[in-house]
Amino acid sequence: MASLELCQVAKKYGHQYVIKPLDLKIEEGQFTVLVGPSGCGKSTLLRLIAGLEAISDGDIRIGDQRVNHMEPAKRDVAMVFQSYALYPHLNVAENMALHMKTKGVAPSIRQQKVQQIADILGITPLLKRLPKDLSGGQRQRVAMGRAMVRNPKVFLFDEPLSNLDAQLRMELRAEIKALHQQLKTTTVYVTHDQIEAMTLADQIVVMKDGYIIQQGSPLEIYDHPKNTFVAQFIGSPPMNLLPGEAIQQGERWSIRCHGIELPIPSSQLGQPLTAGMPLQLGIRPHQLKLASTTHGPKAVVRVVEMTGDQSLLHLNWQGIALYLQHYGRLELVTGDEVRLDINPQAIHIFDEAGNRL
Ligand code: ADP
Ligand code: MG
Repeated sequence: MASLELCQVAKKYGHQYVIKPLDLKIEEGQFTVLVGPSGCGKSTLLRLIAGLEAISDGDIRIGDQRVNHMEPAKRDVAMVFQSYALYPHLNVAENMALHMKTKGVAPSIRQQKVQQIADILGITPLLKRLPKDLSGGQRQRVAMGRAMVRNPKVFLFDEPLSNLDAQLRMELRAEIKALHQQLKTTTVYVTHDQIEAMTLADQIVVMKDGYIIQQGSPLEIYDHPKNTFVAQFIGSPPMNLLPGEAIQQGERWSIRCHGIELPIPSSQLGQPLTAGMPLQLGIRPHQLKLASTTHGPKAVVRVVEMTGDQSLLHLNWQGIALYLQHYGRLELVTGDEVRLDINPQAIHIFDEAGNRL
């Protein structure tokens, strides 16, 4: 186990920056999730840490060692890929023991170590099988086992669950979390799945276009997204955004959107506003309620999605598409009119450029 620190790390392909100079510190034992849209540089960053690609600039430290020019094998990190990358001609036990074998570890110790990890992962009955005789979930367990037997300083995971079906993803997600609680190995986990990010991370790092946009604990990021990109990327369905403008009433400020006015939460009044300044109002779908009265903004139901325990309404409010998430069942159909209730305590205010006030 070790801490991991990136200082002004950048990666260029030709003249094109794929990773813009960035800083990132990961404490020993911490589980950090890199999340962001496809192409934002997550895998590249992981490959730079692993040493599979050379950095163009900056420093990478694992523990107190600067590893910029160190070969991947010497960095003592273990990587798990989406594609599993198992050797097809070796059985499960041989795949798991291969790294120890190349290091000259005695066969009896290899066998003991493989057995121990196989027990933790529940793959003991599979040890003699070839990868082709395993399901996707089993292969991914073996790939994780192969990384674990190395007892590395840092685990790197690159979208390990994205090839699996939803049920298995949920199962393995919980297992990865339980394993981390047991082993406490410093981990960097890449995903584009915000549910994985929310549920696994001690620290989430949101990336876009080779930059780090925001980092913090999952709930910090969920409750205080720095901008509309993060607000809409973390949370499913995404946060609703409505255009509005700032209104001044004496000392107080409100936001007006299509005739409704809501006070701006005092926690968001840090920066000077000007009357009429364009703003955006954000409200999460589960914070948007159906009003029990005949007052309140009137919206039209476009689609009703029922999942058994929840109803998701797609609404049209004066030409703006909104999501409303209701825990329970609703007797509504397309074309129905509903009244909305927005809790002023639950709103997020962003400026026109999308930055949180
Ligand atoms: P992510 O994992 O977030 O989807 P990647 O790190 O794979 O993104 O890629 C980030 C960007 O870098 C992409 O635009 C990709 O096309 C580019 N890229 C990745 N590898 C290379 C390469 N070897 N040469 C040139 N561009 C690359
Ligand atoms: Mg990738």
